[in-house]
Amino acid sequence: MDISLSQIRGIGPARVKAFEAAGIRTVRELTMFLPREYRDLSSPVPLATLKPGEAAAVRVRVAGEVSERRAKRLLITKLYVTDDTDTVQVVWYNQPWLKKQMPAGRELLLYGKAEFRQGYLSLISPTIEQDQGLIPVYRSIPGIPPKALRQSVEAALKLCEGQWPDELPEALRRRYGLCERNFAMRNAHFPDSPEALEAARRRIAFEELLLYQIALRLFRSSGRSGVKIAFDDGAAEAFWGRLPFEPTAAQRRVLSEVAADLRSERAMARMVQGDVGSGKTVIAFAAMALSHAGGWQSALMAPTEVLARQHYEAARRLLEPMGMKAGLLVGSLTPKQHRLAHEAIAAGEWDAVIGTHALITEGVEYRRLGLVVTDEQHRFGVRQRTLLSEKGDAPNVLVMSATPIPRTLSLILYGDLDISIVDELPPGRTPVSTRIVPEAKREAMYGFLRQEVKKGRQVYFVCPLVEESEAVEALPAEAVYEDLRTNRLSELRIELVHGRMKSADKDAALERFRAGEADVLVSTTVIEVGVNVPNATVMVIENAERFGLAQLHQLRGRVGRGAHASWCFLMAEPNSRLKFLASTTDGFKIAQKDMELRGPGELFGTRQSGTLSGGIGSLAGDAELLKLTHDEARSLMARPDAPDAQAVIALARQRFAERLKDVAIN
Ligand code: ADP
Ligand code: MG
Repeated sequence: MDISLSQIRGIGPARVKAFEAAGIRTVRELTMFLPREYRDLSSPVPLATLKPGEAAAVRVRVAGEVSERRAKRLLITKLYVTDDTDTVQVVWYNQPWLKKQMPAGRELLLYGKAEFRQGYLSLISPTIEQDQGLIPVYRSIPGIPPKALRQSVEAALKLCEGQWPDELPEALRRRYGLCERNFAMRNAHFPDSPEALEAARRRIAFEELLLYQIALRLFRSSGRSGVKIAFDDGAAEAFWGRLPFEPTAAQRRVLSEVAADLRSERAMARMVQGDVGSGKTVIAFAAMALSHAGGWQSALMAPTEVLARQHYEAARRLLEPMGMKAGLLVGSLTPKQHRLAHEAIAAGEWDAVIGTHALITEGVEYRRLGLVVTDEQHRFGVRQRTLLSEKGDAPNVLVMSATPIPRTLSLILYGDLDISIVDELPPGRTPVSTRIVPEAKREAMYGFLRQEVKKGRQVYFVCPLVEESEAVEALPAEAVYEDLRTNRLSELRIELVHGRMKSADKDAALERFRAGEADVLVSTTVIEVGVNVPNATVMVIENAERFGLAQLHQLRGRVGRGAHASWCFLMAEPNSRLKFLASTTDGFKIAQKDMELRGPGELFGTRQSGTLSGGIGSLAGDAELLKLTHDEARSLMARPDAPDAQAVIALARQRFAERLKDVAIN
């Protein structure tokens, strides 16, 4: 099974290269490349039941003429399809061959998503299907067409057929009613039925989650002794006393947990979770002040330069009056500034060093580094921790999480970290009012926006990213920007920010918005991470049905940061999910609901990439499976010398150890 891919018919040298670039070298690895999702063609739905944003199969007839229209370089093909329940418009882009293939009356099996276009529900770029049943959809690999990919996987499975040794002990499989491995692999790719797929998913997810958690625990128990920081009992109170505001009870509690870690022999590995605005950054600064009080340097690492600068400004306001010197180290400094920064760090002149990844990748020599604070989005693995501590004990690590995560899930994803929760917001916040705005009310909303801008406030527009598989006329953010600028809000000053822009242009646009030189900022989700503009009071989220609840909550946290009343407008037809979001502002409740609705896989986010395999909807298992594997991992690790435990632990080491090195803390 560890044979080369070139053994498979149809895979020549060029494709071998393309697979290798995607990290797939052997037949075995190809079989482990699980589908991202499945097209369920087994039960087409009536047109009348199509819902915006949900993918579905429909069995329809072409009704009437096909129309073609050109818009710039785009060819737009439209036609109406019908079944006994309804008639719906279908839109395709740049598919010139379609027109001839769509005589009136032709029967079609279509699969795709419906969306509102100009107020009507339309099917956008559906695929035309021949097969029946559940069809695997793989993450696309550049250089391998989808059909060839599917055939290659099928051939790889044939080569491996019956050869998977079942590595999980049989007693374990029996106890949890897990299907046999060969069956699982075949059905994970080409399910015989929804039930067979579910059994396969459960088996593979169980194995993966169990081994992952054991691997995390292996790391944990091998954690090295850490820098022990001694400071006065009154140091925390002294810090709080110098703040311009009273800390919340939750902030006090979390800081005392952090303080106990800093003082102990073992290296701290702790994550702080809390809702947007719960005051996590202040806790980070407090920890840095404690470290300073004990005579140690600290570093704060942010995922982007904009955020690093923001933290640096805050540190100067807060920490310098307390006698700490803060310094900034980011990639864009001039060579001379770099040299000076390195010198100041090595000489111990800077007590609190704030920056981006440059903090650990440029061979910076610290004088006495006792604490590293990092943002969750930032990968910070065991390897990097070792980089920082080659000559001494491991520094203490504090991870600030941007999103609340349900407790059950935290235990599993971050089994290698202790967790502190900031479950209280500072007083005096004006909560964000959330409203669902259907298309019919769009005009009225623009009127409201104009009023807010007249009062001197600012507005965010957030648009979803386009999926690779969709051919759309323009990036939604660009289209919205053009529409606002030339049409709907043409009297206002509008800026655009999206992921394909140069980062200098992006920063400049953000800066103009922050400085109040623009009224409206249109963006993709790039603003999710940490822009702080207290004067912005309205957030409009286009196609809100496309976002997960936790993400919507994160986005709306960008407003409501100042003294003024704030609003979040979800542009979508009302549904129970969005109504739930409008009804609460508790991030943990929302995360819990998100997990119930979409499965925990969606919440795995970046942490999961590179560790757990990304297939089968990111192993979107159920909370129950997470709990079972968590308990089983604990029980196996409690008796590591028992033969069955030994076998599973060895397997976890082999499967995950290398991969976990880079992401153990992240
Ligand atoms: P988070 O990082 O958790 O989203 P921040 O630490 O950025 O939140 O805090 C948000 C804002 O609230 C900041 O302006 C901060 O100064 C302020 N803040 C933090 N803690 C308190 C408190 N206890 N009382 C009043 N304001 C606070
Ligand atoms: Mg923060």
